[in-house]
Amino acid sequence: MRDSEFFRSRIPEFVDAERKFFSGEMDAKTYKGISGRFGSYAQRGGELGMIRLRMCGGHMDRDKLSFIIDECRRYGVSRIHTTTCETVQLHNLKGDEIAEIMDRALDHGINTQGGGGDNPRNVSATSLSGVEPGENFDVYPYAKAAETYLLDIMPDVKMPRKLKVTFSSSPRNETHATFRDLGFVSRPDGRFDVWGAGGLGNNPKFGMMLAEGVDPSKVLYYVRAMVDTFMEHGDYENRGRARTRYMRDRLGDELFAKEYGKHLSRLLEQGGMDIHPAPSVFPIKEVKDVSGERIHRQSQEGLYYVEYHPVGGDVPLEMLERIRDAIADADGAEVRVSPDSALYIINLDGAEAVRVRDATEGGARNLFETSVSCIGGTICQQGVRDSSGLLNAMIAAVREAGVGEYLPRFRISGCPSSCGCHQVGIVGLQGASKTVDGQAVPAFKMSINGCGAEGRERMGEEVGTIAQDRIPEMVVTLGKAVRDSGKCFDEWLSSNDIRQVLADYIA
Ligand code: SF4
Repeated sequence: MRDSEFFRSRIPEFVDAERKFFSGEMDAKTYKGISGRFGSYAQRGGELGMIRLRMCGGHMDRDKLSFIIDECRRYGVSRIHTTTCETVQLHNLKGDEIAEIMDRALDHGINTQGGGGDNPRNVSATSLSGVEPGENFDVYPYAKAAETYLLDIMPDVKMPRKLKVTFSSSPRNETHATFRDLGFVSRPDGRFDVWGAGGLGNNPKFGMMLAEGVDPSKVLYYVRAMVDTFMEHGDYENRGRARTRYMRDRLGDELFAKEYGKHLSRLLEQGGMDIHPAPSVFPIKEVKDVSGERIHRQSQEGLYYVEYHPVGGDVPLEMLERIRDAIADADGAEVRVSPDSALYIINLDGAEAVRVRDATEGGARNLFETSVSCIGGTICQQGVRDSSGLLNAMIAAVREAGVGEYLPRFRISGCPSSCGCHQVGIVGLQGASKTVDGQAVPAFKMSINGCGAEGRERMGEEVGTIAQDRIPEMVVTLGKAVRDSGKCFDEWLSSNDIRQVLADYIA
């Protein structure tokens, strides 16, 4: 098993590259190829960079939280962003600062390596796994075992593109396990169904079921079988068509399943990869009944979690500090980063829950304000549009008009790469262009009725393209139409033609 010293010994390669890139000796493409492997990318403009901190299953214990706060204070980090893969990104850093954070992170159980590039990305899991009443079972111990395994083999495997592996503990399918490169979908009988070769982004595709009723102790065989299938059949020539879903397109579903099965059978025959991870441990606390907004009961008696949604996934540093102070004496408390950009502070007794709730005032005020946005084109080099800026403008307009409670959660991506998962939003927006009076203007394509829940997966239907500067007004118009109907948004959408209501914006 590779330890943190192994990963630390690789950092000088990154330092050499970042120094050359930021001093102009290395071109952006070469740098991206190296820095991505270390979980870092240069930001738009090439002056500053970001670092992506892996948080398997979104788990951020008190030590990791303190580490992030201390590093942000040390370097004056001005933007902390959570992602749909449950990582935490620190932005606007200088090259050497990135390397220093990367190094110190290893002392706190945070690895950044493989956070970008053609590597196994952070293994995600339902953020409330283990604590959510009604879930099938706690999938986190298996997610952690998969993350450890993938980090261990990472230096020895060369895949054509990134590989996203996820685990889901309930049909909410928060982590999109039925449409990732590899997804383990929990079942009520304590087993997994295994889905694979799906993904959003360009040419999105739902996954296909590869195995049913898998014994959880066998998950690593299924992980390795996907890695091996990907290395054998993936496209090493054309990066734009290299993700696992394209491999499935090329082979066809039947042959793809057969090839995956071939690797799986070989691995199962070889054996040696069974796992029996220790179950998650939760504190036992005195029962002190409380209730209130943003406070929820865990499946463990007497324990609560508090929900806090930073607007647009950008968490103010002061808020992290308030959370740290509020849980300083709360035995076993930790933060979970969700793929929908919420933070859940878990393992609290009643009094601690009230304290954390009071400390985390100031986040999203309604479902609309929990809308998901990627970091967007002002930071991301690939970005076409400023998704994050758009969401802030939408929220400001909607607050002024007082119609937030009538609107749903939007999902916004700055480009077709779909880091905001717009295709599965009930309303999705994707960065694009539109011709207005003969001029190309910044715009977003709008889709409706997408869904990511297990068994109800649906790609949104595109309804039109709207100039970016008209979107805040368009959202207010939508909110007023729903308000005046007396229905909730979903009911309104099913009985109204949104194209007609928004015709003026879509035209
Ligand atoms: S969707 Fe596009 S703009 Fe947004 S973070 Fe991903 S690559 Fe960047």
